Amino acid sequence: MSELAPVLFFEQYDSELTQAERSAVAVARNFCADELADVAALAYLRNEPFDQQVISRWGELGFFGLQVETAQGGMGGSFLCKIRVAQEMARHGFAMAFCLNNMQGMATRVSRHGTPRQKEAFLANLMQGRWVGAPAMSEPQGGSDLSKLSCRATRVEGGWVINGSKAWVTNGVIVDLITLLARVPDEEGADIASFLVRVDGPTAVRSEILSSGARSFRLGRIDFRDHFVPDWALLYPPGQAFARSLESINAARVHVAAMCVASLYSAFTIALRYCGERVAFGKPLTGHQGLRWSLADVAMKMEAANSLVFRAASRVQRGQDVTMLAAQAKTLAVEVAVEGVQACMQAMGAIGASAEFPLSMHASELRMAAYADGTSEMLRDRAGKSLAKSYLDS
Ligand SMILES: Cc1cc2nc3c(=O)[nH]c(=O)nc-3n(C[C@H](O)[C@H](O)[C@H](O)COP(=O)(O)OP(=O)(O)OC[C@H]3O[C@@H](n4cnc5c(N)ncnc54)[C@H](O)[C@@H]3O)c2cc1C
Repeated sequence: MSELAPVLFFEQYDSELTQAERSAVAVARNFCADELADVAALAYLRNEPFDQQVISRWGELGFFGLQVETAQGGMGGSFLCKIRVAQEMARHGFAMAFCLNNMQGMATRVSRHGTPRQKEAFLANLMQGRWVGAPAMSEPQGGSDLSKLSCRATRVEGGWVINGSKAWVTNGVIVDLITLLARVPDEEGADIASFLVRVDGPTAVRSEILSSGARSFRLGRIDFRDHFVPDWALLYPPGQAFARSLESINAARVHVAAMCVASLYSAFTIALRYCGERVAFGKPLTGHQGLRWSLADVAMKMEAANSLVFRAASRVQRGQDVTMLAAQAKTLAVEVAVEGVQACMQAMGAIGASAEFPLSMHASELRMAAYADGTSEMLRDRAGKSLAKSYLDS
């Protein structure tokens, strides 16, 4: 059984894990350092999507089934375990971590909320990484305001046909199965339902959304034209789908925040080590007060963000409401990480921005975290509206 070498920065999470979960995190840590790190760095430097072999290797290790119950062939891991595994990935590449983590989330969703038929059709493929899965909610016309989505599912014999477009789908270029949020018209108006949709054939066309420095997210747009979905593929019916999707977004915000602090931790430790060895004007860079204070500020804000993320994650783990904390944790973690990585690069001098270190990759990929799973502005607005409810005694 692999041992988990303690890292002080992650100790509060690790102390909550079972022995089996700690072993799983240790396996993830070794794999990410030995294999994933190089693949992520190369993809970034070449401005190419990452090598898909990583997906198969991650599947062989069983990580797509991390939160699937053991009775269904998964690891039965907790939310905090999911977070720690995602953090080990994010230390070496936020975008790749985001992709693999989304696939893991898809397997969890099908295992927890899928019907027996849906599980039989999809679960094994998702858990083994043979199929790539992703949530598809955002649309070209807008992502923040989900209530305005325009993709439509129309009733036909034996199922539904989908018309419309989804955009900014992580892994969208290679995705096989999505949870699709669509408007379902009926006599009394229109509501929203969620479907498990195979992305295949000429009625579902994928195209890449090019974003320089962040191609490892494999962002894609999918255009549907009379795409048939059978009856049994309905995941959440009208009346439930919108609320269910928002529920899962809160947990997603917390693990994105956890990944942000892990990427920053990687950049910070690289900078700290380098600045302790590099000499300028007769002393190590960390011997200069100005630079030392700059790194001290990074560490302070990183610790504060990490504590908030842990508080939010603990509430998710206990099944408690996390709407406000998730919005706060994600907003703060993204901002601290983006600013912190820049400070680390600056502290190292020009080499901090070179291909020798992964800091510029972290900077580019973390920048995209400010949009994914809710933009910082939208989350601030949401947090602002709930201040009285969250902080004043009734
Ligand atoms: C790396 C990455 C991965 C993603 N993965 C997925 C995925 O897998 N599936 C998926 O469905 N989507 C995904 N998205 C899409 C993401 O969820 C959207 O980008 C996000 O919801 C914002 O939508 P938008 O980009 O359309 O911006 P818009 O909604 O058009 O917003 C434009 C601007 O208005 C601001 N704004 C919006 N509302 C408010 C408000 N209330 N107050 C103040 N300002 C506001 C925004 O902050 C933003 O600055 C991903 C995006 C990225 C970058």
